Amino acid sequence: MSRFTLPRDIYHGKGSLEQLKNLKGKKAILVVGGGSMKRQGFLDKAVGYLKEAGMEVQLFEGVEPDPSVETVKKGAEAMRAFEPDWIVAMGGGSPIDAAKAMWAFYEYPDVTFEDLCVPFNFPELRQKAKFVAIPSTSGTATEVTAFSVITDYAKGIKYPLADFEITPDVAIVDPELVEALPVHQVAYTGMDALTHAIEAYVSTLNCAFTDPLALQAIEMVFDYLPASYAGNQEAREKMHTAQCLAGMAFSNALLGIVHSMAHKTGAAFSTGHITHGLANAMYLPYVIRYNAKDPVAAKRYAEIARRVGLEGVSEQSLINSLCKKIDHFNDVLDIPHTLKEFGIDENEFKEKVAQISELAVGDACTGSNPRSITPAEMERLFTCIYYGKEVDF
Ligand code: FE
Repeated sequence: MSRFTLPRDIYHGKGSLEQLKNLKGKKAILVVGGGSMKRQGFLDKAVGYLKEAGMEVQLFEGVEPDPSVETVKKGAEAMRAFEPDWIVAMGGGSPIDAAKAMWAFYEYPDVTFEDLCVPFNFPELRQKAKFVAIPSTSGTATEVTAFSVITDYAKGIKYPLADFEITPDVAIVDPELVEALPVHQVAYTGMDALTHAIEAYVSTLNCAFTDPLALQAIEMVFDYLPASYAGNQEAREKMHTAQCLAGMAFSNALLGIVHSMAHKTGAAFSTGHITHGLANAMYLPYVIRYNAKDPVAAKRYAEIARRVGLEGVSEQSLINSLCKKIDHFNDVLDIPHTLKEFGIDENEFKEKVAQISELAVGDACTGSNPRSITPAEMERLFTCIYYGKEVDF
């Protein structure tokens, strides 16, 4: 038995934010981040629409990037005092992720993060409120996914929450909110979306419901990401759709080791944070070559290459074309090809690679990767990525 879950309603296209005025309810709490939505006037617009819907509105502002356990607890407390029947989360991935966790603690004050961390073990939500998600970046697709990541800074751990209970009820995918995205974010989040779609397509949990979403997303990223990066607003609108389609695919098919590796290297090195989308973009071609040793995965990568019209007749030549295309994208988007080029110190890399590899193998995303991997193989793969060596094992 498999399950395929999406928000009940996805409003999309320019001006779709206005749909907030058609929500039916009494009270809405609006959860936002650091202030970009306010500065651009979208916060006021959203409040206005919710009031037009006849609702009393309360704001919860200032959710930080990589939201903390404390923020989640504070938000849940505000919700318990205000008793909203709608939770509206607007912004980048962080306010939406934080609001998903607040939702659980609002409805179940006695639940713990340890309980919520067990995958697909959430209590039944929607006893008190329903959830609207409005993304202001084009990549994580948390507006349609069953996932949220919360950080416990005191313990130094990240809680990955996964349950279809936290798949939002309504997603509003309005491209006007991403018109002012900085170009480096367009690049990184765009490559994150491409990675979501490719990993979902080759995942061991892929199915006939997720495949068309993944393929369409891949095709649209290939068609529109460079123009979106160059500032073309029509292309940016297409990318906003593409990342959402990719999200619908990976929320149900899950991901693979590109994400495992990005998760465990993001904050691993003293030379600085490796942004999630950049890490994915860098690792993706190497992982394709590793996974393509598995015949089922090879066939699927070749299908992707064929779908987007890349050159090649044999499976191997099509896979080469796909990797070359991703390398070319990384050039265009100013993304390095190796960890060395990114600026990771060689001695620090050698010192830490064994431990990072073990952690990456243990990451939640490894289970659905199409080819299994041992910590020793992971170490070889990381070494190839560090020096830009060919993956031949
Ligand atoms: Fe991602």
